[in-house]
This record gives sequence, C-alpha cells and structure tokens, in this order.
Amino acid sequence: MKFFPTQLQTYQQCPRKFFYSRDKEIRAKYAKTSPAMLLGNAVHDALQMFFDISKTPMADRTYERLCGLFREAWAGRGIFARNLYKQTEAREQAFAKDRASEKAWGEKGLNILFRFFQTGDVKAVPLTAEQFHEVMLSSDVTLGGKIDRIDRLPDGRLVVLDYKTGKPPYKQTAESLAKDDLQLAAYAVLVTKKFRGKVARCEYLFLDHELTLGYEPTDDLLAVKEQEILALCRTILGDETFEPTPNNLCPWCEYKTLCPKGDEWEKSHGQGAVAAGEEIPF
Ligand code: SF4
Repeated sequence: MKFFPTQLQTYQQCPRKFFYSRDKEIRAKYAKTSPAMLLGNAVHDALQMFFDISKTPMADRTYERLCGLFREAWAGRGIFARNLYKQTEAREQAFAKDRASEKAWGEKGLNILFRFFQTGDVKAVPLTAEQFHEVMLSSDVTLGGKIDRIDRLPDGRLVVLDYKTGKPPYKQTAESLAKDDLQLAAYAVLVTKKFRGKVARCEYLFLDHELTLGYEPTDDLLAVKEQEILALCRTILGDETFEPTPNNLCPWCEYKTLCPKGDEWEKSHGQGAVAAGEEIPF
C-alpha cells in the first residue's frame, strides 16, 4: 500500500480523520477548498513553473513573471489552462461570489511571492520542483510524495525544501523538528533512497515569514525515522476501527459534522461557552 507523509501526520493526529480523507466520496463531499488552500496551491504551482528552466528561462525570472504565473495558476489560465474546471470549482468553494474576499486573498499571495522574490535564491536551478517521487520501503509499504524542491549542492549532496504559506509552528526548533516531525524526515528518507545520495539539509521554508526551519539529518537519524515510518504504516494496515481521537484541531476538521466525536474536544475545553450575541468584555 502507498502512504504519503502528510497522510501519516493526519493518522498521528486522528485515525478517523485519516480514514475519512482516504475515501474519495467523503473527501469530495466534506473537504471543500478553503481560501488558504487555494492560495497555497497557487503559490506552489507558480513556483514550480518559475523554477522550471524550460518554462521560465533564467532571463525571464522576474517578479512580474512570478506574479503572472500565480494569477494563471489561481484562475486556471495560460500555462495552467488544463486546470480551468478545477480552479473554477475551487474559487467557488473558497469565495462563492465574494470578490472582495478573493481580491484580499489574492493580494496576500502576491505579497508572499514579493517577499520570496526579495529574499530567496531566485536563480536556483533545482534538481526537481513539485515532482512526485516514490520508493518501496518494504514489500507491503511504498512511501510517496510530491516534494516542493530538491536542490543539488556543488559537492553533490541534496537539499530538500518544503514551502509553507501558513504560520510557523509555535515554539518549534530545529531540535524538536528532528525529533518529532514526520513529514520532513519522510521526504529525507524518500530522497536518500530514490537518488542514492546524501541529504545535507531538509527544511521548511515559511514564505510569508522569511523563515527557514530545518536540520541536517544524520544517517542514524534517517535509519530510526525509516523504522518509525514503517511501524506507523503497519499500524495503519492493521487498524480496523480508525478510532476518532478528539484533539485541539477538531474545530477546523473538515469532517467534524460526520464524526461521532466531532464536538467532544470543544465541549470539554469550554468552547461555545459564550452565547451568540453576548457582549464582549472590553
Ligand atoms: S472532528 Fe476531531 S475526532 Fe473527529 S475526525 Fe476530525 S479530528 Fe478526528
């Protein structure tokens, strides 16, 4: 069975959410595109074409080109014309007919790209950008994922980059990331095996915050992470009930109305204690 790093994180958060998200029909009905998702996808798509030397030659790597790609990705036009139907539906889900809100989110995306263009290495030529990679970890487990960017350093070592358009996690450090985060480690394992190379660094790049957070994975760490990933995949393969585990992300879970424990966390943490229309205390 094939597993993706983001899905593994979802399972760690809540097995029931993982179960729902693997069901195509449930996903289509409940997991609607949010403004933040639309923005994130358009930024990723724009950066993919921007760093693809066959689509954007080095001489054309300007901020205007990057903005143009972002607008095309958002609307499903130009180089992204094949996505017209998908993007039209996503815009409808995210904004309905609220053009003012769509404008504000679009401008937020342009600001993110402006900051990236001012501070990032826009002349880089990645080994791959936004490409899907997969490797078999064992006869029953394949690890796959779309990796935002893989760069090759002059000494041949590799750098794995994952773009984030949201906020950096509160109090996260390089050490806690190496210890607890599964997504970056899974990408590092995947790249090490697929390219038979050494990963010098794996990093999250928080585009709106000019912040890079990552670490240098040692061979020992990657060996431990690979075993953790395999063990987690086998737990999933053996899971028959996918029990819901209420957690502090339940209020934002797409499947909250479907889940038998969808409002348990909020009830137990006093959310909703304020009556609608109640005066604010200041
Ligand atoms: S609402 Fe909470 S408990 Fe239910 S599926 Fe979502 S994350 Fe899990």
